[in-house]
Amino acid sequence: MSATPAVPVAWPAGKRAAACFTFDLDAESAVLNIDVAHADRMSVMSHQAYGPLVGVPRLLALLARHDVRSTFFVPGYTAVRYPDVVRAIVDGGHEVAHHGYLHEVLTGMTAEQEGLVLDRGTEVLAALTGQVPVGFRAPMWELNWHSPELLAERGFLYDTSLMDADHPYELRVGATGSSLVEIPVQWALDDWEQYCYLPEISGSGLIESPRKAAEIWRLEFEGLRAVGGCFVLTNHPFLSGRPSRAAALEELVEHVVSCSDVWVAPLRDIALYIRGLGLSPRSVERPDPADF
Ligand SMILES: [Zn+2]
Repeated sequence: MSATPAVPVAWPAGKRAAACFTFDLDAESAVLNIDVAHADRMSVMSHQAYGPLVGVPRLLALLARHDVRSTFFVPGYTAVRYPDVVRAIVDGGHEVAHHGYLHEVLTGMTAEQEGLVLDRGTEVLAALTGQVPVGFRAPMWELNWHSPELLAERGFLYDTSLMDADHPYELRVGATGSSLVEIPVQWALDDWEQYCYLPEISGSGLIESPRKAAEIWRLEFEGLRAVGGCFVLTNHPFLSGRPSRAAALEELVEHVVSCSDVWVAPLRDIALYIRGLGLSPRSVERPDPADF
């Protein structure tokens, strides 16, 4: 079977592309999932706590200044540890979506194990926000081939972890004929690669200039705008919440918002719009070992 590419979509009247500024509120969860023993490292924990404590308030104010509504992906444990921060995100008019419980990298998990993670995360977010999350982003963008079916079974509307298109599409799920809206992402549009350095945990030690990061993102934005795609930027409050980085991000937000041909919206709104188009689902097939 030959794979077929996702096709360009027609955006709302007057718009030729879409954009969403997304934030992954990983906080301590992302480091604890690597090794729970990191909980003993006070300085490392404080590096991660900067996100909810300092980054989120700064970023919420930034978004409010430009009347931008966004999507925050929140691990369940982060919501347990910082419930007031999650409430502030909701009060700011933003979407809170699913990002695992302890930021579990799903690789190697059985469907049963992964289902438990999904249910645990949903339970926490729903109790805190009053809304069942409809969007999912796999930690480290690592989906299993069985993940889409687990999400569809649980009523999720969309996923944003795959990288094979410029445009959102309906991802065919299992053999049931159901589907999940997929809103593609890419490593070039993530601040982790630009800024993250934690000794022995992540990064090379090279921390990039916010100017360089913003330049990459702006070029990607203009490229996706030209092809009618969907620009999805992923920032982490513990990284991009720092003052110089937030300032560079704000210039980009200002530019994107000034483009009247670009629809800026939370991913939930974009996914609902895509669902309303009634697109034929496309299959993404696992390479078959028999063919290797
Ligand atoms: Zn994450």
